[in-house]
Amino acid sequence: MTSIYIHYPYCLSKCHYCDFISFPCLNKEMENLTDFYLKELDYFNTITKNDEITSIYFGGGTPSLMPLSMLESILNHINKLWHIKKDIEITIEANPKTITKDKLKAYKTYNINRLSIGIQSLNNDSLKFLGRIHDKEDALQTLSLAQNYFDNINADFIYAIPNQTLSMWENELRDIVKLNLPHLSLYELIIEENTKLYKDVIAGKVNIINENIATDMYILTNEYLKNTTPQYEVSNYAKTSYQSQHNINYWEGGDYIGIGVASASRITKNKKFYLNENESTISKWKEKINDNNWHFEELTQNERAEELIIMGLRQVKGISITQFENIIRDSFFNFIDMKKLQNMIDNDFIILNDNNIKTTDKGMLVLDSILREIIK
Ligand code: SF4
Repeated sequence: MTSIYIHYPYCLSKCHYCDFISFPCLNKEMENLTDFYLKELDYFNTITKNDEITSIYFGGGTPSLMPLSMLESILNHINKLWHIKKDIEITIEANPKTITKDKLKAYKTYNINRLSIGIQSLNNDSLKFLGRIHDKEDALQTLSLAQNYFDNINADFIYAIPNQTLSMWENELRDIVKLNLPHLSLYELIIEENTKLYKDVIAGKVNIINENIATDMYILTNEYLKNTTPQYEVSNYAKTSYQSQHNINYWEGGDYIGIGVASASRITKNKKFYLNENESTISKWKEKINDNNWHFEELTQNERAEELIIMGLRQVKGISITQFENIIRDSFFNFIDMKKLQNMIDNDFIILNDNNIKTTDKGMLVLDSILREIIK
């Protein structure tokens, strides 16, 4: 299983909480990056040409700002270079106010079959606080326009926003459930360094939310969604058969090719694991491609095993031990502190049976601590 991720680095403006590699382009020209994307795909094809591509994901930034000709060229090129799985999942992220009927129609003709919309909140005060360029009405209009063309739609939301109370989030959850979407990504707001929000917190202009309230919001979220759109990963919820194949490939340790500024790749060759992380400025990324200056780092078996444990336990279904051992080619338990694992099992944080290890609901609440404890 190999996925391709393409990073489009432009947004209309910078949201206050955002630490993704994205550059505001309102009233500025976005560079034509097509040739660079195609050359980078050519390079990755030389080392993965026999792989079958099982999913493609356009993320960002705001990929719904990507000119259609660029999108079409990239997809045509991928189709030309690799063998493509018959029912491949192709996702594009989109933001309210950047989607039109014509774009949606074009996406369909390019066989894009999944749309992920960054709504983030249905509360106008929260949207303003987050620095989003849209309001609730814009988001709902975009969603209803998209539903004319796409059935497989995800919407992203954020909770634990400063000044948000549990009952405010509950009201929003009621509205989210009414949208009846097949997939939801609901993230706790993390205050990242190098964001406007972080500076405001440091300057004492904004108070972060109490961690207990954030936990209550997470528990309430699971309660609200369990009958319609159950949780399948820490922050992801889906109706049956709408789980994101692209993300599952990451969490289960499949290979992935990352194209574009700041994208990361993991490639397995001759039983060895390789990592590539692209430069985080457009000029440096372009320079590397122009100079044909590719460099991969080898990941040790321990490093890759640790990644797989960290990502695998984020899933509600946990880790298939056989699948893990097929990838890593060593016993799962060689990477685990057995005494600490037993302690986690005895205290009802982890369930271990023949071929599966997963967290309990209680364990999922303290996943980071569990991982710190059990990984050798
Ligand atoms: S739209 Fe997304 S990527 Fe762009 S600035 Fe906002 S949060 Fe960041």
